[in-house]
Amino acid sequence: MARLVMKFGGTSVADIDRIRNVARHVKREVDAGHEVAVVVSAMSGATDQLVAWCRAATKDRPLFDAREYDVVVASGEQVTAGLLAITLQDMDVNARSWLGWQLPVATSNAHAAARILDIDGEELIRRFKERKEVAVIAGFQGIHPETGRITTLGRGGSDTSAVAVAAAIRADRCDIYTDVDGVYTSDPRVVPRARRLDKIAFEEMLELASLGAKVMQVRSVELGMVHDVRIFVRSSFDRPEDIDPHGNPPGTLICSEEEIVEQQVVTGIAFSRDEAQISVREVQDKPGVAAAIFIPLADANINVDMIVQNVSADGKTTDLTFTVPAADYQRSLEVIAKAKGAIGYSRLDGATDVAKISVIGIGMRSHAGVAAQAFRALAERAVNIRAITTSEIKFSLLIDAAFTELAVRTLHSLYDLDKATP
Ligand code: ASP
Ligand code: MG
Repeated sequence: MARLVMKFGGTSVADIDRIRNVARHVKREVDAGHEVAVVVSAMSGATDQLVAWCRAATKDRPLFDAREYDVVVASGEQVTAGLLAITLQDMDVNARSWLGWQLPVATSNAHAAARILDIDGEELIRRFKERKEVAVIAGFQGIHPETGRITTLGRGGSDTSAVAVAAAIRADRCDIYTDVDGVYTSDPRVVPRARRLDKIAFEEMLELASLGAKVMQVRSVELGMVHDVRIFVRSSFDRPEDIDPHGNPPGTLICSEEEIVEQQVVTGIAFSRDEAQISVREVQDKPGVAAAIFIPLADANINVDMIVQNVSADGKTTDLTFTVPAADYQRSLEVIAKAKGAIGYSRLDGATDVAKISVIGIGMRSHAGVAAQAFRALAERAVNIRAITTSEIKFSLLIDAAFTELAVRTLHSLYDLDKATP
């Protein structure tokens, strides 16, 4: 017997037929003797609709009361939690729904982006034991204990709800049922030879998720890492009756590195075309210049990613290059132009037709020259590198967007990701 959290995203609960399919997955685990808590998202598109209504209600004033926004957007998950409980009962599975305030899921009061502070899992555990009751929990929502008001965790937050519930009930595993059957070495639409990974370490998944792999909310991976919750990403479209209850279903386990025996040097390659490059030419090479550039950008809530600064040859001026999200490109140029007096530079250059390629793997910690191999392979294909950043388990390269596919495929082969693991 195991204790499981099963999380189903919006596409998996998009209509009554799919909710019935979800219920059959739940029943499959219950029949196999497991204790189950289910966490659900809103029906796909439902949250978008609720957000749109909030916007429409305040068309003259773009800022609305985030506490009321949370009341509105939390309602999507209330519907699916109740519907799944009804469907399970209809299949003679003992189940009840739980809203965030009922459990309760205590959060900070950062409405629309609240953080989970605490979940008490003991009542759920008691009910597993005494009533064999399945808990169906509305994801995405919580309550701020002091004000008693409903909160939500930010878009995609039901992943985080699921991992937090898994930690609270000390689950053996948190299964994330979604519309893909796992985490891949790269995006299969760009790299046809991308493969599903059997296992990936929390840290690697954290990098992938931060780089825009849309499998899971970044914070849910962070939480899994902190509480050591094993997370299994699998497809919700497999037919429940086709799954061998004692077999190894297809999917990717996100776990601690100790659990990964066959560690490859590189695990995955991510890329993003939503980057823009800005170069500030001939800035003074003296203390305070970086602050004069980056503090106004931070104040404008612009996320700076790669930063490259040269050492000046003459001790006087140098160039400083950095990247920002493409959506913030114009605004960034304006912020820098406005701060020209404080910064002191000759010219501003920029480009939006750039892409960031990132190579990730915890094996890099113990292997030298991993990035150097990439530089050579890309040079052989005449791909110019505009900027480079490295960390312990990742390096990122900024290149011309036109070379994205070529570069990603080249690196995918270079690090043997085309081949199945032995
Ligand atoms: N329903 C929420 C959203 O669409 C939360 C989630 O699905 O994870 O963002
Ligand atoms: Mg989601």
